[in-house]
Amino acid sequence: MSISGNLLNIKNKLPSNVTLVAVSKTKPSSDILEAYASGHRIFGENKIQELVGKYEELPKDIEWHMIGHIQRNKVKYMAPFVNLIHAVDSLRLLKEINKQALKNNRIISCLLQIKIASEETKFGLTEVEVSDLLASEEFKFFQNIKIEGLMGMATFTHNQEQLKKEFSLLKKIYDNVCKLNTANCQLNTLSMGMSDDYPIALENGSNMIRVGSSIFGKRACSINLNPTS
Ligand SMILES: *Cc1c(COP(=O)(O)O)cnc(C)c1O
Repeated sequence: MSISGNLLNIKNKLPSNVTLVAVSKTKPSSDILEAYASGHRIFGENKIQELVGKYEELPKDIEWHMIGHIQRNKVKYMAPFVNLIHAVDSLRLLKEINKQALKNNRIISCLLQIKIASEETKFGLTEVEVSDLLASEEFKFFQNIKIEGLMGMATFTHNQEQLKKEFSLLKKIYDNVCKLNTANCQLNTLSMGMSDDYPIALENGSNMIRVGSSIFGKRACSINLNPTS
């Protein structure tokens, strides 16, 4: 199946309130252009350097989402154009995003990442940490960011019951945070679900899915076998 065929297949089955982020990480710009030609405009990358390179090369009406873990010292490179930052997991990072957004005279939309997976390696905040962050004095002065929602990654498993448990936990936290009604914070986005688990995420209240391999095909394994080089 072609990239545009895969895209159409997925889009045809999505409810109209769900946004599809096509995750193009590690894939060449020609693949993105093929999706673009079929009308798709929202793409996600997980490395700032790659995001910036593709932004510079590709049509300017593409909406770029940063979906990966972020190093604070690199926020400045994406601040001029990024449309949505999915994986914000600290006040320090928000402070830097706010600073760079101000420099660019922009308001940058962000999602807070919640840890729902059982794996230690996955990032994110707990519900208590989110409400503390939103209630903090410092947060109130962040005029150049807007918290639009929450994001989460489930455990890498085929256990449907566990996936359902993790996604419904995230939905519950989302509903609770929606009620907080804080300044700079108007939730309307719940980003959860990837190629292998998005149908379960949708059943549990997701309205934004991040799909890579089901659109662009499998990615080459990026494990560094020679870490000293
Ligand atoms: C790579 C990635 C995805 C997409 O993964 P697929 O399994 O290829 O759909 C979604 N979200 C994040 C945060 C990712 O890094």
